[in-house]
Amino acid sequence: MTAALDWLSNGLWQLSAWQLVIFTLAVTHVTIVAVTVYLHRHSAHRAVDLHPALQHFFRFWLWLTTGMNTKEWTAIHRKHHAVCETEEDPHSPQVQGLKKIFWQGAESYRDATTPETLKRFGAGTPDDWIERNLYTRHGVLGVSLMLILNVALFGAIGLTIWAVQMLWIPVMAAGVINGIGHYWGYRNFECPDAATNIVPWGIIIGGEELHNNHHTYPNSAKLSQKSWEFDIGWMWIRLFQLLGMADPRSTGPVVEKVPGKTTLDLDTAWAVLNDRFRVMAKYAEDVVSPLVEQELSRAGNATRGVIRSARRVLCRDASLVDDEGQRRIEELTAASPDIKLIYEYKQRLLDVWAKRGGNAEELVKELKQWCLDAEASGIQALRDFVEELKSYSIPRAAHA
Ligand SMILES: [Zn+2]
Ligand SMILES: [Zn+2]
Repeated sequence: MTAALDWLSNGLWQLSAWQLVIFTLAVTHVTIVAVTVYLHRHSAHRAVDLHPALQHFFRFWLWLTTGMNTKEWTAIHRKHHAVCETEEDPHSPQVQGLKKIFWQGAESYRDATTPETLKRFGAGTPDDWIERNLYTRHGVLGVSLMLILNVALFGAIGLTIWAVQMLWIPVMAAGVINGIGHYWGYRNFECPDAATNIVPWGIIIGGEELHNNHHTYPNSAKLSQKSWEFDIGWMWIRLFQLLGMADPRSTGPVVEKVPGKTTLDLDTAWAVLNDRFRVMAKYAEDVVSPLVEQELSRAGNATRGVIRSARRVLCRDASLVDDEGQRRIEELTAASPDIKLIYEYKQRLLDVWAKRGGNAEELVKELKQWCLDAEASGIQALRDFVEELKSYSIPRAAHA
């Protein structure tokens, strides 16, 4: 009798409080890996191929611990990238407000799941027997089984573990990534939407913290870009690759810098075009930053905050500059001819890729002209920038 009561309150697997915490973190981590590696990088972006056995494991695990459906998740997410930060975006805090996305992110998903969206954006997702007859038809059966399993294993505390599992994705993925990842944080790249990197160490939510990198290179299986950034999802992909179960298709653009190369040829133009976000980040770092600092210091108006905000507004993607930002740009460019000049050169460089229209000769011609003018501008930082730009090339292996 006592044994039975004991079993009821403590379950079959008697763990200490710490062991229970570790267990909970482990199962939620598996869920996060399933979301980031399987749903996000594999299904939505096709950035990594996964072995069928691994795909089946992730589908089963997601059904068991989240009740999420691959087709729905994939479609909503592809739509998010396609119409980012517009009224159509299924979850933009810039449009719907951070509060709404943070607290009701999961509801935004449900509201956006329409048959048209599934049809338009859900192509290539699983449609086999188990998907139709179990995962889609009995979506809540999995999480119910999980509840029974948790209570059987751990007794009453199993309920709490289950609640944490159920809340993990709506709060951490839908709330934190879709909300904060388009609102607060730092930006390595000026991608044309508001995506931010929340912290440089993507561990808790599997690397998805590096959301600005992801929006810049959406087809890259690896979400970290700087040497000091860490993406645990990528670590798992490499491990699966070692076991022959994953094959990353892309990790973002690869360019080579050839020391001493001084001619701007087609290779340079393609390399620069492919790597344009990093090229623009470099322009911000090496040309805009020092010049803004120098000009503002000369005017006796150079606290760190002022310099930083001036640099940010001058380099920001035009679609993200509000009226206040526009006024600030006019003020800064009116106050210094040099700032005006580097701002105009930034716009012109953006125009080089915006106007290219797939024509290689035109691209090389425009880029050459930009470089010639920049060299003649008399600004040393701009000349140094051009010199480095000319050394860009496409790695030999990539030609094959
Ligand atoms: Zn996003
Ligand atoms: Zn994505």
